[in-house]
Amino acid sequence: MSSALLPLVLAGLLLAPPAKVYVCQGSASYAYHATDRCEGLAWCTKTVAKLPRAQAEKLGRRPCGRCYRR
Ligand SMILES: [Zn+2]
Repeated sequence: MSSALLPLVLAGLLLAPPAKVYVCQGSASYAYHATDRCEGLAWCTKTVAKLPRAQAEKLGRRPCGRCYRR
């Protein structure tokens, strides 16, 4: 790879960081959300945590039906 491309690659990483999602840490919640303003999080009585999507999936969370509706 040409070293002239490196700055462009780094800039691309900065512009596209790993996707972060929001999860309610209450035991009743099962989903992760694309935004902390989702209606699904309005019911959360515990802390809302922001983490990488891969980590939320590892915790067994599913995509929120509202945030990830097609
Ligand atoms: Zn949601």
